[in-house]
Amino acid sequence: MFKLIAFDLDGTLTQHRSKLDQTNRKVLEELDKKYKLLMVGAGGCERIYNQLNCFPIDIIGYYGMQESVMNNGQLKIVRSDFYTVDKQYFIDATDKIREKFGYTDYAGDNVDFHETGAVTIPLLGKSAPIEEKVAFDPDRKKRAVMYPFVKSLFDGFNVFIGGSSSFDIVKERFNKYNALTAYMKEHGINENEVMYVGDDFGCGGNDEQIKTGGLNYTLIDDYRNLGNKLAFLL
Ligand SMILES: [Mg+2]
Repeated sequence: MFKLIAFDLDGTLTQHRSKLDQTNRKVLEELDKKYKLLMVGAGGCERIYNQLNCFPIDIIGYYGMQESVMNNGQLKIVRSDFYTVDKQYFIDATDKIREKFGYTDYAGDNVDFHETGAVTIPLLGKSAPIEEKVAFDPDRKKRAVMYPFVKSLFDGFNVFIGGSSSFDIVKERFNKYNALTAYMKEHGINENEVMYVGDDFGCGGNDEQIKTGGLNYTLIDDYRNLGNKLAFLL
């Protein structure tokens, strides 16, 4: 009955910003024999592909702003959307957030502006060590408290509790639900034929719109449980 299995990356297939391990690679390989597989990620297609150790898979990146396919064993970007943002506004708004919640000490860049127009606010700074980032807010509670205020600063944008210690901000039309349903329409796949697998369906989570939009989904509470949680698909 299912034709397409779509995945989040961080926290679902891997630890945050860590490479795909052999166990979960085998899960993907098994699923790949039965279904079309697709990544629907928050980061860029190339970063996702590298984090997957070049596992061959089509990728939607940046919440729908970018798309790649496999072409003769190579990743090929087939679509990239761009917009520009008022950088000074984002810098000033980030300063407000840092002052209000006490994150005025940070390593490296204060705000991360991506080439697409997407913006990341890394609370610990862009260059903070990955271990610190991963340990910062594993249950997302720190950022959940901040979320209403952060969201209120960016009218016309979606704000996501992204990564391990950051907020992702993209124009309102970009979210995983819109991205996935556009892909389904393009490929003639209906809602009953899709299963989305993610770890963050709560308020402000970057998989939230998949759930509120009514698509089938499977919650992964720990990426090390991926195989067990998806055994019903095999
Ligand atoms: Mg995730």
